Amino acid sequence: MLVTGGAGFLGSHLCERLVARGDDVLCVDNFYTGTKDNVAALLGLPTFELLRHDVTFPLYVEVDEIYNLACPASPIHYQRDPVQTTKTSVHGAINMLGLAKRLKARVLQASTSEVYGDPTVHPQTEDYWGNVNPLGPRACYDEGKRCAETLFFDYHRQHRLPIKVLRLFNTYGPRMHPNDGRVVSNFVVAALTGAPITVYGDGSQTRSFCYVDDVIEAMIRAMDTDESVTGPINVGNPEEIPVIGLAELVREMTGSRSPIEFRPRPADDPMQRCPDITRARGLLDWQPTVGLRRGLQATIAYFDGRLAGAAGVP
Ligand code: NAD
Ligand code: UDP
Ligand code: UDP
Repeated sequence: MLVTGGAGFLGSHLCERLVARGDDVLCVDNFYTGTKDNVAALLGLPTFELLRHDVTFPLYVEVDEIYNLACPASPIHYQRDPVQTTKTSVHGAINMLGLAKRLKARVLQASTSEVYGDPTVHPQTEDYWGNVNPLGPRACYDEGKRCAETLFFDYHRQHRLPIKVLRLFNTYGPRMHPNDGRVVSNFVVAALTGAPITVYGDGSQTRSFCYVDDVIEAMIRAMDTDESVTGPINVGNPEEIPVIGLAELVREMTGSRSPIEFRPRPADDPMQRCPDITRARGLLDWQPTVGLRRGLQATIAYFDGRLAGAAGVP
């Protein structure tokens, strides 16, 4: 099978799981935010192959399943080159769908809760159309992912392609980028290094954090569903927590003395986000199994190890 974005945070975990269950995996990545280090443990294996390639260009390979994860996911990364972000989502989707069409292969899209924008419906169900600012700084990501979903459903209707669209909510765990500005990595690294924990706004905005292993399990289950299941399906942890609550929890769990400092909230920052996972429960027989404390423990241990290994530089 093919995993695009396979050298990234989620992609590397997915590659590991697929190789572990005996699949042949082709990992395609242009290393924009991912690294070879993320898949270092797989590099020598005969069932794993790594190809440097940008999905905005056509790709001719032979595979039976495609997991399309290629796309920078954190606001700092996807806003650095917004045109490239939209191209990756849209041209990347067209190329992967064209590839799937030629091969009659199944194709899974890692979509996002960002398609709901700053939602006015809580929790978010899949039939909610969302509230996205099409012109704002997050639009390259949100609208790119929305257009990719459109393409997936049109290829499905027009070419009978077997598709699986998953809307992933905030995911965290080992191999998150230490410097990508995501709230979990920011808070954990700050707490471990004694730097201020920076809360944007008053911290009353909420997120729902799902541990990476649970998300990967949902992806694999979705790929294995019968062809009538197309999605979209929300994948996330309905355990909702305000950002200030996360700051306090990380501080407590690390035993840190880092001060909590308040900074201005970024533009278009969604106020509340929480998945309704009724569909995932029904169609995938899936629900998160790792609670926030247990997942944070593993994440803290990961960053602790990195900080120790790099003399304090994550
Ligand atoms: P990541 O940045 O760690 O991984 C993305 C990978 O895609 C990187 O390895 C990057 O180098 C690669 N990539 C980017 N542009 C590419 C291109 N044009 N061609 C080939 N490779 C390219 O991010 P992640 O958190 O692992 O996210 C993976 C996918 O899941 C993304 O599509 C993201 O939108 C989606 N997602 C993630 C989250 C989350 O919380 N992490 C939430 C919702 C959706
Ligand atoms: N494509 C690809 N690999 C393939 C087949 C197609 O990368 O094995 C690309 C191809 O470059 C094309 C896109 O996928 O631009 C869409 O393919 P499709 O067959 O839907 O469209 P068409 O080739 O007719 O434009
Ligand atoms: N956030 C914060 N401090 C940080 C990083 C993020 O308070 O150091 C907030 C951010 O404003 C948002 C939430 O945490 O409200 C989640 O941000 P993240 O970038 O992780 O994910 P997203 O906004 O894409 O859900």
